[in-house]
Amino acid sequence: MTVIRVNRDRLWRNLMQLKEIGGYDDAATGLRGVRRLALTDEDAEARRLVVSWMTEAGLTVRVDRIGNVYGERPGEDPTLACVLMGSHIDTVATGGAFDGALGVLGGIEVARSMNEAGIRTRRPVEVGFFTEEEGVRFGTDMLGSAVAAGRLTLGHAHGLTDAGGATVRDELARIGFDGPAPEARPAPHAYIECHIEQGPILASAGVDIGIVTGVQAISWQRLTLAGEAAHAGTTPITARHDAGLAAAEVVVEVRRMCDCGDFGQLRGTVGSLALAPGQTNVIPAAAVLTVDLRNPDDGLMTAAEKHLAEFAAGLAERHGVAATWQRMAKTAAVTFDEGVQAVIAETADALGLGYVRAMSGAGHDAQEIAAIGPAAMIFVAGENGGISHTPREYSNPTACGNGTDVLANAVLRLAGQA
Ligand SMILES: [Zn+2]
Repeated sequence: MTVIRVNRDRLWRNLMQLKEIGGYDDAATGLRGVRRLALTDEDAEARRLVVSWMTEAGLTVRVDRIGNVYGERPGEDPTLACVLMGSHIDTVATGGAFDGALGVLGGIEVARSMNEAGIRTRRPVEVGFFTEEEGVRFGTDMLGSAVAAGRLTLGHAHGLTDAGGATVRDELARIGFDGPAPEARPAPHAYIECHIEQGPILASAGVDIGIVTGVQAISWQRLTLAGEAAHAGTTPITARHDAGLAAAEVVVEVRRMCDCGDFGQLRGTVGSLALAPGQTNVIPAAAVLTVDLRNPDDGLMTAAEKHLAEFAAGLAERHGVAATWQRMAKTAAVTFDEGVQAVIAETADALGLGYVRAMSGAGHDAQEIAAIGPAAMIFVAGENGGISHTPREYSNPTACGNGTDVLANAVLRLAGQA
């Protein structure tokens, strides 16, 4: 069987070039970071550069109605479903060079390497990038892939607004990426997303490669606790309706739930907490907090949500505050396709690269595409404990090259050499 070796230097140069679009000097770390929120001018510039690379690689580019971009390399049999590679090029406000970009630029590098080796495939091969994966600007993560896979409607996605009131529809038009292609994409024969791990498991195991078994369930809720503002000096302790105190109990309970073992491998975070009116000498009348729960098991996730709802109700009773929950997001746990995982494992074995299997702690476009076709992911190890969503995010050239070699050869196996 033909073995493809991608051009690691070229891949690295592309990663470093893309990182300058939206590049900023990060005061907290003293490093150069990336701030390229979806559908901003920076995102538009990055999109144009990546499209130019797709075109230079001989790919036929199409843009769909939610701004997802696909580059297609034809196969010998155009009637066959394609093998799709992809990820995203938007970042969080304090991002790095690798999150998302590796899978997209790596996919383009796979196409170039196939061209240079004169490899033809039976199936078409595509590389894509999906709109607003991070969810930072418009509040819904994996937006473009969720629309492509039919979980969200185009109308809903178009109507989402950013903090300044701009809609997805208007911003797509403004940057010229409101394409004509249907947003519901044809089911791929297989989808593989190569992505940095964003965690410490691979480095601890001493390998560059991870085969991702699935993505844990994610639940985001906003809890509003309404109490009563009163004088901090004159109101007796027992007569208070202190929304801040109730909120603090929720924070502690979320951590206790993670430690107690009743909810499996639950991870819970209260990442945002605001008190009102926010004055030194006034008992808080209101607290608004967010609860982010992650769990590889859907049943235990539901149990955790139920427990937390009961806890908040009891709290409301004890402190005389009203508790209101608002669902922000929820995605079920996803198990990746065994067959595609097996192909990735055989490929890594054939290349002599060690790997471990791991569940993803973060959400990815692959979990959406998994709804319409067999999907799996390749993880690439990161340094500094795999830290991500910060300018400290770093995967070295060898790890990026190894991951992309696995991607290239797994795609070749799935697409079939003609
Ligand atoms: Zn990502």
